Amino acid sequence: MKIALKMTGCKNNRYELDQILSWAIKSKVPVVREEEADFCIVNTCTVTHVADKKSRQMVRKTKNANPKLKTIVFGCGARMQKESFEEIGEVDYLMEDLPSVIGFLEEKINDKTRRRAIDCAPSGMEFNDFSRSRALVQVQDGCDNFCTYCIIVSARGRSRNRPLDEIIDEINKHVKNGYNEVVLTGINIGAYGASSTTKPEESKFAELLRTILDKTDIKRIRISSLGPEYFSDELYKVLKNPRICRHIHLSIQSGSSSVLKRMKRQYDAKDTEKVVNRLKNDISGIAITTDIIVGFPEESDEEFKETLDFVKKNPLAKAHVFPYSVRKNTLAAKMEQVPDEVKKERAKKLQKLADRQREDFIKSQTLPTGRQVGKKVSVLWESENEGLTDNYIRVQKKGDHEVRSITIEKLTEKMILK
Ligand code: SF4
Repeated sequence: MKIALKMTGCKNNRYELDQILSWAIKSKVPVVREEEADFCIVNTCTVTHVADKKSRQMVRKTKNANPKLKTIVFGCGARMQKESFEEIGEVDYLMEDLPSVIGFLEEKINDKTRRRAIDCAPSGMEFNDFSRSRALVQVQDGCDNFCTYCIIVSARGRSRNRPLDEIIDEINKHVKNGYNEVVLTGINIGAYGASSTTKPEESKFAELLRTILDKTDIKRIRISSLGPEYFSDELYKVLKNPRICRHIHLSIQSGSSSVLKRMKRQYDAKDTEKVVNRLKNDISGIAITTDIIVGFPEESDEEFKETLDFVKKNPLAKAHVFPYSVRKNTLAAKMEQVPDEVKKERAKKLQKLADRQREDFIKSQTLPTGRQVGKKVSVLWESENEGLTDNYIRVQKKGDHEVRSITIEKLTEKMILK
């Protein structure tokens, strides 16, 4: 039996495929391209209607690439859009979650397969570069916040925290396997350790970071995403540690407090501004990246202008701008919708501003050609000549850098990869 792995969606979906990959390695099951596979496992996403479409297209394309293989489809998309996946002829098996996928694969491995696998070591382990250069570590899953536009709570369930020692063990294993960077991921990791994600005051995320710093030798820790409501003096203090990447993906969502209220977010624009300013004051060269939804139901021209002014006043290192996407069975779906052309127009305007700020941020971290002295950054090499700085800038430099190795570099304009 040979399997192929594919996905759409977030780092959690990738983490789940990494779990199947580790199972395959332990079970000596070759992971190959879909053209050679007997089964292709597709992890799906449903965060927006675009994600739904992409997930369905991926299943169809996979089957068309190799009609003989069987597709195993699971994940948030398969869970929340079950009927639409059941109608797709290219779906052979629709599964609830990761354990049911691994359970199914285990059954498929019969002795004969295992004996044959042992004889010839698995060849052509195909998996994308992402997992080769840094390791994802899921610390938390699910959420209790019920933001009015979000179906993740229904797709991934209520919040649950992973035991601390399990996380430490996994990171130490990654260190032993030669990884120098881990990316802490989850659905709402800022609430790690809290009895509910709606109780930021109970968060033990700062403690988690301290324990990782104390009990592992990992060189770089990257944090996947944090809500503004989870910042505390304790967290600001530990974020200054040089082993923590100077990159905070702050899920801002809007710069208008009245829109944030309709989204049922747990902070307002002033709170967000405080977090942005404190991080910039505390950590030189920090990259604050974010996601912003425009065209949220009932968003007026004034409210959109508030978001635009917020971003102008608080420049960001990178912003993903999303036109609001209606999700069935959410409160926001019942609100008065903003016309699509208005959403698109607003998204274009804000993305243009954000892209300019991205260039300004990179310029602020880079030496003009010819100048020698200046900022030093740590670069994790993802291939011989390409890497990522701790503050989220992609760079290139000739040389036979070892993948996963870290070097200290002075960034020059010609090193910058767009
Ligand atoms: S915090 Fe809000 S947007 Fe994020 S997963 Fe939870 S409910 Fe969804």
